[in-house]
Amino acid sequence: MVVGAGLAGSAAAYSLAQRGWRVQVLDAAVAPAAGASALPAGLVAPHVSPDDAPLSRISRAGVSTTLARLAALLPAGTDWAATGVLERRVEHARALPPCAPGSPNPMDGWSVEASPERLAQAQLDQLQPATSALWHPCGAWMRPARLVQAQLAQPGIEWRGACAVARLQPTPEGWALFDAHGQTLAQAPLVVLAAGFSVRGLLASADGAGTQPSTESGSPLPLHALRGQVSWGALNELPAAARAALPPWPVNGYGSFLHGMDGPSGAPMWIVGSTFERGNTSAAVTAADHAANQARLQRLLPRLGTLMQPAFQAAQGWAAVRCTLPDRLPAVGVLDAVRWPGLHVLTGLGARGLTLSVLAGEVLAAQLHGETWPLEPRLAQMLLAQRFSRRSKP
Ligand SMILES: Cc1cc2nc3c(=O)[nH]c(=O)nc-3n(C[C@H](O)[C@H](O)[C@H](O)COP(=O)(O)OP(=O)(O)OC[C@H]3O[C@@H](n4cnc5c(N)ncnc54)[C@H](O)[C@@H]3O)c2cc1C
Repeated sequence: MVVGAGLAGSAAAYSLAQRGWRVQVLDAAVAPAAGASALPAGLVAPHVSPDDAPLSRISRAGVSTTLARLAALLPAGTDWAATGVLERRVEHARALPPCAPGSPNPMDGWSVEASPERLAQAQLDQLQPATSALWHPCGAWMRPARLVQAQLAQPGIEWRGACAVARLQPTPEGWALFDAHGQTLAQAPLVVLAAGFSVRGLLASADGAGTQPSTESGSPLPLHALRGQVSWGALNELPAAARAALPPWPVNGYGSFLHGMDGPSGAPMWIVGSTFERGNTSAAVTAADHAANQARLQRLLPRLGTLMQPAFQAAQGWAAVRCTLPDRLPAVGVLDAVRWPGLHVLTGLGARGLTLSVLAGEVLAAQLHGETWPLEPRLAQMLLAQRFSRRSKP
């Protein structure tokens, strides 16, 4: 049983169904991808750091697994496209890791310095002072709800909407899930909590199964809410000069700009994101966040930002709540096998759910089945949810 039908829940369900499990996916909403995964379109891109930090290496594994899943399940060009992504250096140095002479370059095929031609294509070549950027040839855009739907459509997976889980309780056979009226929604030997920030409350409800809270804060998983908003509009309503200045691929580095994919209205859109507001759990669209997105675009792509000023008067918005963990990595798999046997989580995807959810689903299934990890073992260990219960033990 998987609670939550976003990128996390659908990826977990898919990976389990592929291994022969019959999976029920419960969600409070009446349709899948009701939370952060309803993002109209977003980026799949590697993280870069001068020391090739674990997050950078994990992100490359995430990009690989995600692109493979997208290619297997969705039509390229409409639901996703491996266009490459230009990452402009705005505030962060984002240097590539050095490559020792004679050794293979880990960045080969992943990230290179952007050429002057690419900077010119993004209208960034005339900036004063001059700017620089990285080019990620494997970067892609995708419409996350389409991946959620495609993963849930696999044999062995049953989707159940309008099932808001209020509480879970251990049973001799596994776990039982209840709604707010105390009605049993489902029972199963194995539960994966993949309900974003709500996992925090669901774990608290399971506390009857355990003894003491296992972190200082009292929550076994220190999840934080991180609200975000994107602004979008119809591409054909842009002024002609703005349409002529569009970069040929997505650009990120200070927020992001994407265009050309079908938006919520069914017509090709432009989309600018996104805001970050810690501790806010509201999904209401605000004028202040539109202004913040406009300012981001102005800084990221100054010429386009100026030409698009009129478009922001009529911009539409979409907002949701991400959830993060202090080390900025997701929490995957068993949280505490002694306290909560059979209870798994997949959450804390933060601002990288499009890049990391498929990999996280594979890590969850690999842990459960004792399989070889789908990435370097040391990196896989860094994703495991049990890092939080281990830390708090004497
Ligand atoms: C503005 C914005 C822009 C973003 N841009 C990008 C991007 O470009 N690239 C990227 O990689 N990531 C991006 N992200 C992050 C990405 O969207 C998230 O990491 C990802 O969608 C999280 O997926 P999830 O399945 O964990 O959570 P969600 O998609 O929020 O799914 C949780 C599900 O659980 C359900 N649920 C909640 N409580 C209960 C309950 N009690 N019972 C039953 N069901 C419940 C909800 O209805 C929901 O369907 C962005 C996020 C935002 C907000």
